[in-house]
Amino acid sequence: MYDISADVFIFSSLHKISTWTNPELRKNASKALKLKPFSSMFNELSKMFEKDKTIQIFSRYATYNGSNPYKAPSTLNVIAHLEHNIGAYFPKNGMRQIINELENIIKKYNISVFTNSYVEKINFDKKVAKSILVNNQILEYDLIISDVDINFLYRNLLKDLKMPKKIKKPDFSTSALIFYWGINKKFAELDLHNILFSDNYKEEFEYLFDKKTIYNDPTVYIYVSKKHNQSDAPQGKENWFVMINTPANKGQIDENYIKTARKNIIEKINRVLKTNIEKHIEFEHINTPQSIEKYTGSLAGALYGANSNSIMSAFNRHANFRRNLKNIYFVGGSVHPGGGIPLCIASAKITSEIIKKDILLKNK
Ligand SMILES: Cc1cc2nc3c(=O)[nH]c(=O)nc-3n(C[C@H](O)[C@H](O)[C@H](O)COP(=O)(O)OP(=O)(O)OC[C@H]3O[C@@H](n4cnc5c(N)ncnc54)[C@H](O)[C@@H]3O)c2cc1C
Repeated sequence: MYDISADVFIFSSLHKISTWTNPELRKNASKALKLKPFSSMFNELSKMFEKDKTIQIFSRYATYNGSNPYKAPSTLNVIAHLEHNIGAYFPKNGMRQIINELENIIKKYNISVFTNSYVEKINFDKKVAKSILVNNQILEYDLIISDVDINFLYRNLLKDLKMPKKIKKPDFSTSALIFYWGINKKFAELDLHNILFSDNYKEEFEYLFDKKTIYNDPTVYIYVSKKHNQSDAPQGKENWFVMINTPANKGQIDENYIKTARKNIIEKINRVLKTNIEKHIEFEHINTPQSIEKYTGSLAGALYGANSNSIMSAFNRHANFRRNLKNIYFVGGSVHPGGGIPLCIASAKITSEIIKKDILLKNK
């Protein structure tokens, strides 16, 4: 499935005719039905595996882009292939190191990086992007590339433009509630990645996407980087990243919601690890859908922009450009090909190829 789909859906623009006229890609596109796009991830996994728990583990990959395995097309089962067969990286010094390394690379090319500079508006002359408003200054550029969440961008920085329909009424991916705990004990039962599944996975997703509230037995993900990297926590202690998925926040995720979720998570950890975890929490920091929205600009705290719960989701994502606008491009998790760091990087690569072609065309 990965061989058929990756070049079209992950590494090319779905919105350029050149993708669909490329003979190599067309050959793969003609095998599209092999991807079983009309069947859900869960349906196909149920045919591949016998044990409910195995099906549940592999269904979890839908949450890697904030979707529902009972609805998302089975094409998303390629994520399991990527993780198990191709493999994932463990950045030394944490995820932040990816940003540091990117910054080191671009500095080698004498590119200036400005941080803490909030862009308030992108200005156009007719349909040509010309400048940005930042720190009360108007700065002109030949090209503007935005990595801001596309739903936020149209509502705040592109207010003068007509909003595309799918942006006006976004069908959000999940958000998350995260507790960063300093734990004053070592738990031998835990590994680097740990998932305490809910007993009724289907119902949990109905709560997340239909009722848009928390489930009282949420699946809890516990990541302990100390298990791999000893210097990440003091001796005899552990750093826990404890996360549950939540619906995107439309105002319902208030303090009470967070209190209830914390209580449910603690009860579950106590039950599974036969402990009283609260007494071992020395430090706590909480990241909520509100704080995610505040610090990243992701509307409603949705981690991956729109969800991928339908066969049309990939085509409905905003393209890396807009046909009637010039000199402006879009990258990042809320546009094609989607969210999660690997796809964000792919989106930057696709966009750079589009820009190269546009510049060549302009200079012809
Ligand atoms: C808790 C959590 C856990 C996650 N876990 C994983 C994981 O394990 N694996 C994975 O692949 N993905 C994970 N993700 C998702 C991943 O982080 C996102 O998909 C990815 O970071 C999106 O990248 P981006 O560049 O589109 O946006 P962001 O990383 O959000 O970057 C957008 C940037 O734009 C800035 N910005 C916003 N508005 C403006 C403005 N007006 N002017 C200037 N700057 C602005 C923001 O401050 C931000 O720095 C996780 C996300 C969260 C929140």
